[in-house]
Amino acid sequence: MSDTAPRPETAENQIKQSCELLLHSTAGILGTVEGADALAISDGKVLSAGLGSTLRAQYRAIEEVDGKGLLGLPGFVDGHTHPAFAVGRAQEFDWRAEGLEYLEIAARGGGIHSSVRAVREASEEQLTAQVAAHFRRMQRHGTTACEAKSGYGLSLEDESKSLRAIHAAADATGMRVRATCLAAHMVPQEFQEDPSYYLEILCNEILPSICQQGLAEAVDVFIERGAFDLEAGRRYLEAAQELGLGLRVHADQFHSFGAVELAVELSAESVDHLEVLSDSGLEALALSRKTHAGLLPAVPHFLRQQANAPARRLLAAGVPYFIATDFNPGSCYTPSLPEVAHFARIRLNLSAAEALHGVTHGAATSLGWGEQKGRLDPGFDADFVLCELPDEAHFGYGFGENPVRRVFVGGKELS
Ligand SMILES: [Zn+2]
Repeated sequence: MSDTAPRPETAENQIKQSCELLLHSTAGILGTVEGADALAISDGKVLSAGLGSTLRAQYRAIEEVDGKGLLGLPGFVDGHTHPAFAVGRAQEFDWRAEGLEYLEIAARGGGIHSSVRAVREASEEQLTAQVAAHFRRMQRHGTTACEAKSGYGLSLEDESKSLRAIHAAADATGMRVRATCLAAHMVPQEFQEDPSYYLEILCNEILPSICQQGLAEAVDVFIERGAFDLEAGRRYLEAAQELGLGLRVHADQFHSFGAVELAVELSAESVDHLEVLSDSGLEALALSRKTHAGLLPAVPHFLRQQANAPARRLLAAGVPYFIATDFNPGSCYTPSLPEVAHFARIRLNLSAAEALHGVTHGAATSLGWGEQKGRLDPGFDADFVLCELPDEAHFGYGFGENPVRRVFVGGKELS
């Protein structure tokens, strides 16, 4: 062979594939590959999970990330959030300390109505900036994807503004979002004397327009005393279903009167809250195996309630589930899924593995991302967090401290 001939590739290089990123030296990677501590990533997807020594032999990486003994978990997926609010409602905390209940605060003109006034007064730019700030707080706690509801506009103009703000904030922050129209959060004050008229506006104007503008993939309704009754809930959900929108329902939070059964009948994606879930509702969910139970265990803590969703019974019945923050200004002001996982372990008696499933693949599945997000297996999105936890059993064990140190979306680190 002459000196000018191309150098043959070494046998080692010939068998190596290239990858964009090799994450190594973690305390472990949660996934289906037992004992994995490394990930190979390209094009925003996981190529392979395994031992660092194995992946190094297999891949030539453009960039390497030293996991420095941190625990690698899938990016958290928050399946229930209300980020489209303009200001917090800290003053209501004092009202609660005086003994006022959630629905009494709403009747006083506080609660959801005060958030509606603030959203209507805010410009779209101001609201977008607020939602982006909320998304960044969620990202700092490891949330890489979420469901995000409108619901503080309660008019076509203000619901559209809220949903546009959600999408613009997602673009600005890199949060992956599935938007939900919650125009049926509450009957706005201007229609309190004639709620049926607002229902007609919802079904004939707001939902068709939101759908036509492509602003939401799903709808939600608060079926509860003081909000929407069962008959109105059915009319709204059926109108949304005819438009091809997914259905999510706030159900059985304070009173149980058939909301879960209705949602299951209409093949809803999820029923969320369930603190007062009835036996017949649980039976309907167990038979469905499609409608997810959305567990929001920090909400009763925030509202000073004793009742908890019957999570152990739901899991024993094989009901698919997720755990979410319900991040909102009035009934659960936390952006942190690791913190909420702690409440899931304490108040719902879930194991660390069950809590982790709830904030990752369980939530992803309920949002239609079951083949893309919530796992660090080959082919899934390379959304992951590095946490200062020695192992999976420590997830949700401590509280009051954010374990998330680094956050990656599609293989790229968030700054
Ligand atoms: Zn909610």
